Amino acid sequence: MKKIIVGNLKANMNMDKVGDYIYTMNNSINSDNEVVICPSYIYIPFFTNENFNVGSQNVSIYDNGAFTGEVSAEQLKSARVKYVIVGHSERRKYFHENERVMNIKIRKCLDNELIPIVCIGETKEERIEFKTKQVLRMDLLEILKDLDRDKIKDLIIAYEPIWAIGTGIVPSPKEIDDIALFIKDIVKSAYKINVKVLYGGSINTTNIDKFKLLNDIDGFLVGGASNNPNEFVQIINEI
Ligand code: PEP
Repeated sequence: MKKIIVGNLKANMNMDKVGDYIYTMNNSINSDNEVVICPSYIYIPFFTNENFNVGSQNVSIYDNGAFTGEVSAEQLKSARVKYVIVGHSERRKYFHENERVMNIKIRKCLDNELIPIVCIGETKEERIEFKTKQVLRMDLLEILKDLDRDKIKDLIIAYEPIWAIGTGIVPSPKEIDDIALFIKDIVKSAYKINVKVLYGGSINTTNIDKFKLLNDIDGFLVGGASNNPNEFVQIINEI
């Protein structure tokens, strides 16, 4: 099965680096897996028509209209975006996005044939208190509430433990596989569909070999390491 490898560039890279980044990605990727790069909105048009797909880091809860500063799902679709990251923990922390907002964003994506990559993950405290599964279940059911089963068959869940993002600390491979299976079971019993689950949190060139063969992980969401095109290509080519 093809894996999906998503690079979340966050608010990094200036215009003078875009050409080099794309050049490296185009000339060095040697993989049958699907690669998705999520740059800032302003660079999206540069990332289309290449040998990878383009994703967005966010989407508005509003449709086209008088919403200054927003970017709608319809606009993303017209820019040939295929995937949208929804509810990244940084958006939840800094922009106060909650499960209800995520649910609306997912609906906007689905109405515009964009595939949402829905982020969930526990905090360090929740993990220490053994609340990981409880938190993930509650979040997931709230985020996916009353979605149209026929539309969500392509939906992707990214398991991103908050304590692992940008810290260099990762769960064990067994923990990750166990959580991935847990997530798949929840979605299966609620919606009777087989959802794909990605892992994200401090993936880099030195630890990817430990995780790449996990049974229930369908791919990876890579943050920091995707900002360096050489490092990102090395991860992609290793998987
Ligand atoms: C992320 O922010 O989605 C992420 C996975 O970051 P990092 O790889 O830097 O931990």
